[in-house]
Amino acid sequence: DNFTAKSLGDKKEKTLAMIKPDAVDKMGLILDMINQKGLLVTKAKMVLLSRAEAAQFYIEHQSKPFFNGLLDYVTAGPVVAMELMGSNAIQAWRDLIGPTNPSDARSQNAQSLRAKYGTDNTRNAAHGSDSKESAMREAEFFFPSTGPARANTAQFTNCTCCV
Ligand code: GDP
Ligand code: MG
Repeated sequence: DNFTAKSLGDKKEKTLAMIKPDAVDKMGLILDMINQKGLLVTKAKMVLLSRAEAAQFYIEHQSKPFFNGLLDYVTAGPVVAMELMGSNAIQAWRDLIGPTNPSDARSQNAQSLRAKYGTDNTRNAAHGSDSKESAMREAEFFFPSTGPARANTAQFTNCTCCV
């Protein structure tokens, strides 16, 4: 197993993945893709975001013309948020999901997640953090490290970085 505590080494980078509502029914296939890529799911939850929560998550885009449509989309049903861990996890997950626009994704690599499950520029199946800073902020958004919920949160036991 590449992910035992002793062998983690440089594989400890974390990213925040979010499977958007219309791709949640593909979670089994998506987990297979994550597994094949050598990424580990260290935290996961399914949650129905309120509009205010979605606006907070996407705060960097609040002045964009697509902001309201984006909030409509990601609040249309439950999302699955995952913390993924592995070597260069941020870039590895971005590579796996593909470009923002699914039609670009399809012309680049038909096997990416957005190529396979994305519909249009808004409904593009998945989110991935774009930097270490956003990965930290976004993981904290879905999996807060403080507060009463912590006591009931299962921790991945082989992971040295979330104890
Ligand atoms: P990402 O990092 O690849 O997800 O892309 P961005 O951070 O730029 O945008 C966040 C999300 O807003 C995207 O995943 C899309 O769902 C949506 N989005 C981004 N750009 C556009 C756009 O030009 N038009 C529309 N309709 N939606 C967009
Ligand atoms: Mg982004």
